[in-house]
Formats: sequence, structure tokens, C-alpha cells
Amino acid sequence: MAETLNIQALDPYFKDEVAQEPGCEHLLRCFSCGVCTATCPVSEIEPSFSPSRIIRQVLYGLREPLLSSPTLWYCACCANCSFQCPQDVRFLDIIQGLRNLAIRTGMIDEERAAQLARGEQLIQELRRRFIARVISASPEDLDLRAILVQLASELDFATEKET
Ligand code: SF4
Ligand code: SF4
Repeated sequence: MAETLNIQALDPYFKDEVAQEPGCEHLLRCFSCGVCTATCPVSEIEPSFSPSRIIRQVLYGLREPLLSSPTLWYCACCANCSFQCPQDVRFLDIIQGLRNLAIRTGMIDEERAAQLARGEQLIQELRRRFIARVISASPEDLDLRAILVQLASELDFATEKET
């Protein structure tokens, strides 16, 4: 059975709070067309992540469930949704605003958020090296698992601390 909304737990001011984050002022333009979700590469492989659903959750006032949700951190920041949106809602800015709010309100600690950001950088670096290695490998060396394992072992996992 589908979950019902607890009306008392909704925060009617949540959308205003999000709209005040940098770049999020177009939030209320969303008319739920779903183009962002349809063109999101993460939604394609992870059905629990949906930009249009996240915007509806903001508009409904689902503050705590959304700010504490791991799905906020699934976005790969490719900006495809922002380019495709007919209403110029700029979902990429909205997800950044929600992440900032999650940190500021203690829904996730700063260190964990920093590690997630660092992990994204490492994944992008791994992707870049993987493409370069596959393009240059001879046909007999095209063992994708072995290439990925080797490249991952070569990555520098050290996290630079802010001074
Ligand atoms: S594409 Fe834009 S208008 Fe359509 S659901 Fe996504 S954010 Fe809203
Ligand atoms: S920026 Fe995030 S939400 Fe938008 S299309 Fe890319 S991965 Fe999906």
C-alpha cells in the first residue's frame, strides 16, 4: 500500500527557504513536466532518484525526509536537467541548495559531505583514466574488470584538509 502523507509534518515554508538559496529563485516555476527526470542519466540507472519528484517534495514541504535522504547525494552534477528544463528552474542549483541546507541543519555532517564530494572527484578521475586506457589498450588487454581494479588501486585517495 502506498505511504500516506502526514500533513502535520509538512513545512509550508520549506519552498521559500529553498528558494532563498543561491540560484534557486526559479523553483516555483516548475510545472512538473518531468523532462528533468526523463533526461537525467542517474535516474535512468537509479529509479529512486528523480529530480521532478525532489522538486515536488520541496513544494509539498517534506523538509526533514528530503534533507535527510541519501538520494540528495546521487546527483552527478552533469547539468543536463538545467539545460533541458522548459521553465529554467535550474535543478542543479536546487540540489546544491538542498545539500547546503542538509549540512547547515545537521542532517549530514560536514566531514561526510566532504568525503562524498571527494568521492565524486575520484570517480570522475577514474572515468577519465579508464577511457584513456581502453582507447590505447591492445585487443588482448581489454579486460575491463582488470583495468578498473588496476586504475582504482592507482588513485590517490588522500583528502586534502582545508588550511
Ligand atoms: S523539467 Fe523543469 S519544469 Fe519540468 S519538472 Fe523538471 S524542473 Fe519542473
Ligand atoms: S545534474 Fe543531477 S539531476 Fe540533473 S541531469 Fe545531471 S545527474 Fe540528473
